[in-house]
Amino acid sequence: MTKITPQPGIMDIALYQSGASHVEGVSNVVKLSSNENPFGPSDAAKDAFTKAAFELHRYPSSDHSSLRNAIGEIHAVDPARVICGAGSDEIIAFLCQAYAGSGDEVIYTEHGFAMYRISALAAGAKPVEVRERDRVTDVDSILAACTENTKLVFIANPNNPTGTMIGDGEITRLADALPPQVLLVLDGAYAEYVEGYDGGVRVIEQRQNVVMTRTFSKLYGLGGLRIGWGYGPQHVIDVLNRVRGPFNLSQAGIAAAEAAVRDTVWAEKCRTDNTRLRAWLAEALAGHGVPSDTSCANFILARFADQATAEACNEHLKSEGLIVRCVGGYNLPNCLRITIGDEPSCRRVAHAIGQFMGDSV
Ligand SMILES: *Cc1c(COP(=O)(O)O)cnc(C)c1O
Repeated sequence: MTKITPQPGIMDIALYQSGASHVEGVSNVVKLSSNENPFGPSDAAKDAFTKAAFELHRYPSSDHSSLRNAIGEIHAVDPARVICGAGSDEIIAFLCQAYAGSGDEVIYTEHGFAMYRISALAAGAKPVEVRERDRVTDVDSILAACTENTKLVFIANPNNPTGTMIGDGEITRLADALPPQVLLVLDGAYAEYVEGYDGGVRVIEQRQNVVMTRTFSKLYGLGGLRIGWGYGPQHVIDVLNRVRGPFNLSQAGIAAAEAAVRDTVWAEKCRTDNTRLRAWLAEALAGHGVPSDTSCANFILARFADQATAEACNEHLKSEGLIVRCVGGYNLPNCLRITIGDEPSCRRVAHAIGQFMGDSV
């Protein structure tokens, strides 16, 4: 028997399940399981990536200043307090690594994103899951769960997989009532889909205890390149930069992300198309007897009578070449999360669910 063992907590990590992308024996498959942008990245981002091929022998920038400056300009934030990571997943990992260890508690909500638990356990901390209210983040249950050992609170706003969000008033109430040793993390992976929403910048600017994470994987269509960023008070960014590897982003990723963030026309087109198609799909599903909460993101959480019906519908969608996401792992066994695809994909989903519901009554 080997005496080589990992740190406590590591073996409690269940491997992250990523969205499926193939169905055996079915062609013309549409992947609607990972909240990817159906239109892909902006042409400017693709051009920047291609050009970067000629400099692949060079190490990348280690301070990401060109990208941080572009983010600062477009999102109206101080570039000196931006940190970039290999996806926002890496920023989440840095936060846990830097602020939570053995004996510390990390709070997230019952339908919260899987990486909060994984990163907390990887850092040796104790994950603490709190109730939501009808699939919406509940500030009071978070506050009630805080102890002297709580170090981090993660909220995705809008949340994945529920699609719901809470307003700045509730965020402010939470930030101001947290114990003094707690850092509040606002995960804004879907913030760009919410017209006029700053992801929490105004809340951050007036406080020392709030940070946000953002990503190029969703609206900007660059999930394959792994680029995310964080923004917060200087003291937090200084800490995170100490645990960040100097070359954590590739130069191709930095260049593509800078071009993507500057292409505000493409971002706007993706946002408005998503808003229109999301409303259409939600209404079409409701017409077939499948309700969903009002979503603020690029997916809909379709609710079925029970787990068996959700699973049967998933099988039917699969047989039609439509891959969506089962969310039993998020304590939502009677739901399916469906990414908003392009218009033909949305029509195929609505048609297939209509067929399924028609057949099942
Ligand atoms: C997709 C997603 C992320 C992060 O993705 P990265 O690709 O690592 O930037 C973070 N949080 C939530 C809630 C997400 O859904």
